[in-house]
Amino acid sequence: MLFSEAMAKPIIAVYDTKPYDRDYLTRATGAEEMDWHFHDFRLDRETAFAATGAQAISVFVNDVVDREVLKSLAASGVGMVALRCAGFNNVDLEAAKQLKVTVTRVPSYSPHAVAEHTIALILTLNRKIHRAFNRVRELNFSLNGLVGFDLYGKTAGVFGTGKIGRIVAEILRGFGMRVLASDVYPDREWAAQNGIEYVDARTLARESDLITLHAPLTPQTDRIINEETLALMKPGVVLVNVSRGRLIHTVALIQALKSRHVGGVALDVYEEEEGIFFEDLSGNILHDDELARLLTFPNVLVTAHQAFFTHEALSEIARVTVENLRRFANREPLLEQTVLC
Ligand code: NAD
Repeated sequence: MLFSEAMAKPIIAVYDTKPYDRDYLTRATGAEEMDWHFHDFRLDRETAFAATGAQAISVFVNDVVDREVLKSLAASGVGMVALRCAGFNNVDLEAAKQLKVTVTRVPSYSPHAVAEHTIALILTLNRKIHRAFNRVRELNFSLNGLVGFDLYGKTAGVFGTGKIGRIVAEILRGFGMRVLASDVYPDREWAAQNGIEYVDARTLARESDLITLHAPLTPQTDRIINEETLALMKPGVVLVNVSRGRLIHTVALIQALKSRHVGGVALDVYEEEEGIFFEDLSGNILHDDELARLLTFPNVLVTAHQAFFTHEALSEIARVTVENLRRFANREPLLEQTVLC
């Protein structure tokens, strides 16, 4: 054991926890195995002190793990940061390496969860289920304004054919759609097997009735949906983004919605979601005017970064996180492909 015999179990400070995090992490842990210190606030320079006494911490997407924070964690004896997500843009890995703080992540939890949520958004938006649900509860059984279109026979464009994009593409083929795909590393064998056609991004933009984004946020994809690329798209195009908010320039999107060039938008991510998504702000004043504007369109559907949110994904995140913490405590090799430094 890394910890003194007197210290019965490792102390783990867990930041930015919601009830479901506590539930899944404790369920993945053997009885009396860890001393969890759950904090509902995020990690930053002001809250790093809350890790005092812990040997390891666990964080999520919006925690700040910069050099200053890492210095303070290392000084208080924290030897490991276990991310409960795949992305690690919030961690200064160089500083962690210098300070000898181990950093791990959960590289893949459930691509099916994200792909299935994408399909849920597409069907809800197209068949206007979000509006029908509210209407019927008000005893308004009118169908006016609820016309959708058949997906069968239409063209879908899948931008990014990694783990998630492929599952989405295959499901859309199942609806009888023509599926175009674009990726910097096309997998032509998979495409041929599934009747999917790789094209360049501009052709995908021009020919698709429905475009769904599954590429990561990189300098090349930053605001790839902008005034110019929106103009290439078919009038009435439906756009879906479950990837990262910054793939879309929100101001340009709002203009395209106002001019009716874009026929519908489903978003699970938003450029400025930090501090808004995952929080209950009901009763507060929303200060983000662009999000407020988006929420007024009847043909815009927003969910708050919940595509990953299934029992299987939460179980896998907890399993990998707990297993790495256990191995770290026992000085055993950490799980393959989860170690960042
Ligand atoms: P992945 O790495 O398996 O696939 C990403 C694909 O995008 C790869 O095939 C890659 O070649 C391609 N790509 C990269 N740059 C590109 C570019 N410039 N143009 C075209 N294609 C490009 O990742 P994944 O597991 O499929 O996840 C995709 C994205 O989904 C993640 O980056 C993440 O942002 C997002 N995500 C969202 C949620 C959620 O809850 N909303 C959960 C998990 C992942």
